[in-house]
Amino acid sequence: MLILECPYCGVTAEETEFHGGGEAHIKRYGPGSTEEEFNNYLFAKVNPKGVHFERWRHANGCGKWFHAARNTVTLEVYGTYTAQTSDIPQDIKDKVSAKVPGWSWREFE
Ligand SMILES: [Zn+2]
Repeated sequence: MLILECPYCGVTAEETEFHGGGEAHIKRYGPGSTEEEFNNYLFAKVNPKGVHFERWRHANGCGKWFHAARNTVTLEVYGTYTAQTSDIPQDIKDKVSAKVPGWSWREFE
């Protein structure tokens, strides 16, 4: 069971309280972008085995979107933070580095 905490209202609940929204920190492309950029924006998503950054919505609560850093294998949640946060909080980076040695950071948008 995946347990998440909403960073807005502080509620900690099972994943059924929330709604998953896919990969977090993706760069959005619109008018003026190339076909390849727009195609990748729409369809090229990562689906890692391990550390993943996702968007979630507190659907049965405050209704706000937030980001979660978690492990897709162990279901361990390293932390949640607001959707307006473009840089991953340092405490979450430290937790990931401590729990998953050797995991490499990619560029996040
Ligand atoms: Zn909430």
